[in-house]
Amino acid sequence: MEFFGEALALGIDAVIVGICFKMYLRTWNAIKLIEEMPEVLDVGPQLEQLVAKQPEKQLPYVAVRGSVKALGSPLHSLGAPDVPAVIQKLTCKEHVVSRGAMGFWADQERTLQETVNSVPFALTGHKGTRVEVVDALAAEVLDLETVVDHFEPSAPGLVDHLWGFFTGVRQRGLQNTEDVLREGALLTGVGTLTLVPSDPKGDLHLVPPADGAPFFLTAMSLHTLARHLDREKRMYKWLAVTFGAVGLILVGAAARRWWRSAERRAADAAAREATEVERRERRRRARSARDRDNVPEALLCVVCRLRERELVLLPCGHVCLCEECGEAVGPRCPVCRAQIEKRTAAYVA
Ligand SMILES: [Zn+2]
Ligand SMILES: [Zn+2]
Repeated sequence: MEFFGEALALGIDAVIVGICFKMYLRTWNAIKLIEEMPEVLDVGPQLEQLVAKQPEKQLPYVAVRGSVKALGSPLHSLGAPDVPAVIQKLTCKEHVVSRGAMGFWADQERTLQETVNSVPFALTGHKGTRVEVVDALAAEVLDLETVVDHFEPSAPGLVDHLWGFFTGVRQRGLQNTEDVLREGALLTGVGTLTLVPSDPKGDLHLVPPADGAPFFLTAMSLHTLARHLDREKRMYKWLAVTFGAVGLILVGAAARRWWRSAERRAADAAAREATEVERRERRRRARSARDRDNVPEALLCVVCRLRERELVLLPCGHVCLCEECGEAVGPRCPVCRAQIEKRTAAYVA
């Protein structure tokens, strides 16, 4: 059981280390890609010409900047109805104070509901040029602006207080937030820019890169984005190192205990062996001291009829064998055929 718990802990730890390390490499790679990237390209007629010149009619990883515009009718923010938006995220969180295992009360929040609405949109530039953003919700960094952040404290009655005392959870209130990507916001999109001549709405599409490189939709400059990712990278590194150390400690503790128990088993076996050797030696001396011919008929081993009976078989209790025959005989008592569970020395005095 203990072993199972340890193996489980170690397995979980290894998975966490793996994920952190993978995320570390991913952000490291993203930073490298961003740093190698040429300047941000503004949406405009020259952008279309640039993509059209490429042999595959696409730029695999670029940053383009333009202002957000819905391709149909925009969404309307609930909290600020005059703000037209293209992405809207509504979150309802419950804030509670709960008593932890140590008996302290601590603030906690849990998301009760999260709804994301979006409409197709494009990044637009001058002369009506635009780049349609495809699959915006897949972006790793998606900068939204908070337009509503409302906290409604709960007003607990006496019953709620008592309930909270006994259950260890007291409600503090509900927080409703609304985050939007508003129309007209200046946004930088990092992804694959591709020319789609069949699309009647817009020829250029910005799509998540097919090779798994990260897709960003951000209000930050590339430099700030790289710094933001660098912080993330350092956090993943720290987590990977920390959980890695925890794993090493777990392995070390298990190895130490295994080693100890192996040592103990070896010592026990050696002690048993020593006792056994001593017992045989004593027996041998006792035998040689006795005159063999004087062993009464009734005390002779039933198998060899040569040596004295020296063992008691358990659980049947028969004293019918000498040491040698006791080791050679099958799993059953030669007298009563009962299963032999144990053989132990018998001293007939
Ligand atoms: Zn015998
Ligand atoms: Zn028996």
